[in-house]
Amino acid sequence: MSRPDGKDNPDLQLHAAQLLREPIGTTRQDAFATRRLVLEPGHVVTDVHGDARFMRTNRGILANVTAGMKETLSCARCLVDVPVEVVCRFEEEFLPVIDVTTGSPVSFEDEPEAFRIDEHHVLDFAEALRQYALMVEPMAPLCRESCAGLCPRCGRNRNEQSCDCEQPTDPRWAALTALSEGTTKEVS
Ligand SMILES: [Zn+2]
Ligand SMILES: [Zn+2]
Repeated sequence: MSRPDGKDNPDLQLHAAQLLREPIGTTRQDAFATRRLVLEPGHVVTDVHGDARFMRTNRGILANVTAGMKETLSCARCLVDVPVEVVCRFEEEFLPVIDVTTGSPVSFEDEPEAFRIDEHHVLDFAEALRQYALMVEPMAPLCRESCAGLCPRCGRNRNEQSCDCEQPTDPRWAALTALSEGTTKEVS
């Protein structure tokens, strides 16, 4: 199975020959971990880890995968780097390319989109994980809920520095401020 970076990742593979010879319903569970996974060109997640449960079905192997991963995104308001942890879960049936007992090709012509177990009986779930991880990407990550964002006028990060752009210009505010200052002085 080809991946965007063109490399096979043995951490995200199951050598399925044995499981394919087991009776339907037989399961296998594996923890997996890999340092990095390329989701798209220039889009990498790190510290990918999780559990994969594989079950022999009448046609192939059903993979049930839960994976956590880390990545760095930009805050949607102030653009600083935000470390994000993403969890994705999926269940997909992988269909063999060849029959493990007879060695003859198995065709699933009506399911060209199905994930396949290759001719060496390797079930590679990196591509499935890549696709599902992209679906759970946070759309508008924030460095914090109260992020003040960038000033639309001067571009300053208002979390770090205030600017004069947003000062109220309505003279009535100025009058109120003067009043409250006067009151404070009288009390003290
Ligand atoms: Zn922010
Ligand atoms: Zn400003």
